[in-house]
Amino acid sequence: MSSSTLRVVWVYPDLLSTYGDQGNVLVVERRARQRGLAVERVDVRSDQQIPTSGDIYLVGGGEDRPQRLAAERLRRDGGLHRAAENGAIIFAVCAGYQILGHEFVNDLGQREPGLGLLDVVSTRGEGERCVGDVLADIDEGLGLPQLTGFENHQGITHLGPGVRPFARVRVGKGNGTGDGTEGAWRDTVIGTYMHGPVLARNPAVADLLLRLTLDVRALPPVDDRWYEALRAERIAAAVQSA
Ligand code: GLN
Repeated sequence: MSSSTLRVVWVYPDLLSTYGDQGNVLVVERRARQRGLAVERVDVRSDQQIPTSGDIYLVGGGEDRPQRLAAERLRRDGGLHRAAENGAIIFAVCAGYQILGHEFVNDLGQREPGLGLLDVVSTRGEGERCVGDVLADIDEGLGLPQLTGFENHQGITHLGPGVRPFARVRVGKGNGTGDGTEGAWRDTVIGTYMHGPVLARNPAVADLLLRLTLDVRALPPVDDRWYEALRAERIAAAVQSA
């Protein structure tokens, strides 16, 4: 963190916020404030420049056309690249995850270049859309509790050697490749198919973003009873849907 104020940047709320993605911003902000951190939230619309001095960048999900527009503008802007080079944390969901990769298939059925911040390539699934509750074990290296989420995507994401799977699914499709992987990560860049306000269901992941930013191994505990109740409900729903 470069200053005493944590800068949380919400990327393109006008294009990539189809699924209540603001929830992720609110959870990160709240959990930081609960630890006594000063937080500045920066919402960056797609006609504005991406600031390069942010600490945490949140990129949400979107439908196919807004996803293409967002990719075009982010490529032109270049700010997310520079932020990543500065060591910023980037957490991207669904359409945002696909955009961070090398390419995805856009709404016109064409291969659209992504940002190349994650070594993944997304294609269009030929089968049914991946929709439903997900339960997954997060990469052991991250030492986090199980991931609970909801997925809704047609794209399928293939991982290259430059990333590790973010999690392995117990219930649900995740990357959709049939190999049980879900999402991808490297260093300070994480992508996941768990769409919408996934951090409300996984406060430990929000805390991971804060820990990476602050470069600390642990944070003071906070009252997680509300989150735990939500997690228990959604994990039970996922198991039942399996
Ligand atoms: N448009 C993308 C897909 O269907 C991403 C969808 C989303 O963000 N939920 O794969």
